[in-house]
Amino acid sequence: MPEKNNLKQIHKFLQESDIKFVRFVWCDNANVIRGKAVHTKMLSHYFEHGVGISAGQQGVPVMYDAIVPKSDLGPVGEIRLVADWSTLKALPYAPGHARVMGNMLLNGSAWDLCPRNFLKRMITAAKSQGFEVRAAFENEFYLLRQTPEGITPADSTLFASTQAMDINNEVINEIADALIAQGIPVEQYYPESGPGQHEISMRYTNAMLAAEWQIAFRETVKAIAYRHNLTASFLPKIFADAAGNGCHIHFSLWRDKKNLLPDPQGACGLSPVALQFIAGILHHLPALMALTTPSTNSYRRILPHSWSGAFKCWGLDNREASVRVPSDPSLGCPSHLELKTVDASANPYLALGAIIAAGLDGVQRDLAPGNPVNQDPGCLTIEERASNQIERLPDNLGQAIAHLQQNDTLLTALNPQLAKAFLAVRQAEWQAMKDWELNTEVSKLLEKY
Ligand code: GLU
Ligand code: MG
Repeated sequence: MPEKNNLKQIHKFLQESDIKFVRFVWCDNANVIRGKAVHTKMLSHYFEHGVGISAGQQGVPVMYDAIVPKSDLGPVGEIRLVADWSTLKALPYAPGHARVMGNMLLNGSAWDLCPRNFLKRMITAAKSQGFEVRAAFENEFYLLRQTPEGITPADSTLFASTQAMDINNEVINEIADALIAQGIPVEQYYPESGPGQHEISMRYTNAMLAAEWQIAFRETVKAIAYRHNLTASFLPKIFADAAGNGCHIHFSLWRDKKNLLPDPQGACGLSPVALQFIAGILHHLPALMALTTPSTNSYRRILPHSWSGAFKCWGLDNREASVRVPSDPSLGCPSHLELKTVDASANPYLALGAIIAAGLDGVQRDLAPGNPVNQDPGCLTIEERASNQIERLPDNLGQAIAHLQQNDTLLTALNPQLAKAFLAVRQAEWQAMKDWELNTEVSKLLEKY
């Protein structure tokens, strides 16, 4: 990757890497990763002002290629997708192609509906309160074969099965190599609970890079799987009777290279600011879910006893709490927080930006998260849950949309234009898909996520 935004340097890098096309990439309100590729010989024409895309692209849902009603978007209006050259990467899985993330600009300034700009704004808001946010996306995905009889998992083994590691050895190693070639540190790998389900975790980094890596991760896993005649899918729930695909988001707050979360004196070893941040997330979670679990299919995954964060509560090492506080033996106190109520049908810029907005609101208003929960909330009676202020989170997208429509904090953070288009896309998806059976969702959405 070239050091500076210098056309000459970039050309040199592209030539050395034998790149023919540079993909200008964006991720839309439906969380579809899209790109327009410019041939390297023509790049100078697009270097400064990027490629043109219709403003209406931010009003397109996942299930068809047209602008949804009530998005305030239409066929008129052009946005420039201008490369952030610091993100330029040669694509190990697509020889001759490179990827660069685009910022959406209108008349030379950040467009109100640009998801990347939303995350940038939330990072700045955190900074103005003295916080640097670091994060990591922890993806689960299925490796599948498409056969005339339907889809079948690439293995039929159990959680952490070393047999599954052997069966999928080549494809997993190639994914890891391709991630590392893009500068993404691979941390852990293990087969997950479902047949053919896997998890590869990336090291944490600053919030913007974490979102960037999430785009790269999804593209890489899918593309390498295709090269092995497999279909990789991040669809939250594929098989009714097997584990869903989560994409838990891990995060921490820093100032002057110091992690602000640990505090040996605090509840569960957490500082006051960590507790306030948790409280903000829990307070806003029913609305936040429209951004973190934004698909109709997402809600098939969020069930009690499935480690997917179905209840509004937090707890130390509690995998049934929506906010898990993982213990950290190296510090003696937790080093970061994990939101489980997230899946990879979420646009990473919007999901992470909204998490930051919710957490900061908790800090600003000095909210308290209630008592940590140290048992499975799904095993408590309704009365016990009520007396501990543990609520069941929305169990369909329609409910999450209704919560977001009432949530001034998140709507204001998004800004009116982005909020309007995002909600219109969610609403259109909900109306179109709310009565679909699981098998229809799977056949229509398997390859979309
Ligand atoms: N598959 C679970 C989910 O849907 C997560 C399992 C785990 O804790 O890694 O979120
Ligand atoms: Mg997992």
